[in-house]
Amino acid sequence: MSPRTLAEVAAEAAGCTRCRLSETRTQVVFGVGDADADLLFIGEAPGLHEDRQGEPFVGAAGQLLTKMLGEIGLRREDVYIANVLRCRPPGNRDPLPDEIESCTPWLVETISIVQPAVIVTLGNFATKFVLETQRGITSMRGSVYPWHGRRVIPTFHPAAILRGGGEGSRQFQDLRADFRLVRSTLDAYHEGPVSPVPPEAPTQEPAVVVVPDEEQLELF
Ligand code: URA
Repeated sequence: MSPRTLAEVAAEAAGCTRCRLSETRTQVVFGVGDADADLLFIGEAPGLHEDRQGEPFVGAAGQLLTKMLGEIGLRREDVYIANVLRCRPPGNRDPLPDEIESCTPWLVETISIVQPAVIVTLGNFATKFVLETQRGITSMRGSVYPWHGRRVIPTFHPAAILRGGGEGSRQFQDLRADFRLVRSTLDAYHEGPVSPVPPEAPTQEPAVVVVPDEEQLELF
């Protein structure tokens, strides 16, 4: 657990010069939402609108994210939203390995303060980075992955949905199903660990095995 508050970390990050993106950004886009949220979203990097406004997911992709949250009864202020990179790569190019390495401590400290039970990785980039996999988002999505005592649920990046046919697309139906999975995983977490079932009672597996906080690794 970090001894600092998220506001203190964000204030320090605002002056970050750990990589070349500090020369081209308008401002650091640290993150937004509830510093005590059970649910954390991780995108790729700020785009044009985010760089200008200083808040992640405020463009068209952000509007779709907000809509999907609404479908499962959540508002942006109920969750925490961040990106792998806190500064916009020029022209929205892909993040470079040394930029990711420089920025990772901000993400690690964010996770260690927020202590989310569930993390949603948005798109290929965040999913591959967080779960250290080469598998693409299409095969990763739709499942819950145990990760350092938490649950990671990968889904499509909302920008990819908008580029690929919008709300009429098959991918949008998958995105919707993934958000329902987020809801049920959070609900299972809130219900708490299931007590041992007496042998004569019918066994019913919980949808998600919830690992109590004290069993979480020191890393986050
Ligand atoms: N795309 C991202 O990955 N992050 C943002 O903040 C906005 C768009």
